[in-house]
Amino acid sequence: MAVRNIYWYGADVLKNPCAEVTRINDGIQTLIEDMFETMRAADGVGLAANQVGVSKRIIVIGMPGGEKRKALKIAMINPKILTRSETLATEEEGCLSVPGVRTEVIRPDIVSVRFLDIDGNEHTIEADDMLARIVQHETDHLDGILFVERIPTEVKKTLTLELKRIKREGRTRIL
Ligand SMILES: [Zn+2]
Repeated sequence: MAVRNIYWYGADVLKNPCAEVTRINDGIQTLIEDMFETMRAADGVGLAANQVGVSKRIIVIGMPGGEKRKALKIAMINPKILTRSETLATEEEGCLSVPGVRTEVIRPDIVSVRFLDIDGNEHTIEADDMLARIVQHETDHLDGILFVERIPTEVKKTLTLELKRIKREGRTRIL
């Protein structure tokens, strides 16, 4: 297993929609192991494959346990959100590709998502609360959308300088 480089805001690989995985081979399994390792090393709760430069529809989620919930570690291949609740929730989000920025994002608070696991078995689960938020944030990545594009324009304006700095530093980080 290896920790991979995380691409930052401004990188093309984060802007383009990712391709479906058609075959789960050793390369995909290694990628998923590396994504878990990278997420842990960066202290994140979710990571999409294009954040480590691979334009494939894979996300990993690692949620710490809490008073009301069990710890969760899950990889989703070709995740697809099937339904979104009309009820919304507002929570602060951050992103390993947008380091240092945290801002509130409004999203549906319950979603159902269909995906393949690492053995190719299909699952459909209903996710609420923190898991629903992570699934939406990460599947957005796979569509080339970052959380800072889900906020009101006036809020995004206040982040302009910070985003420019990240873009500039990001360019020099990975060549
Ligand atoms: Zn993110």
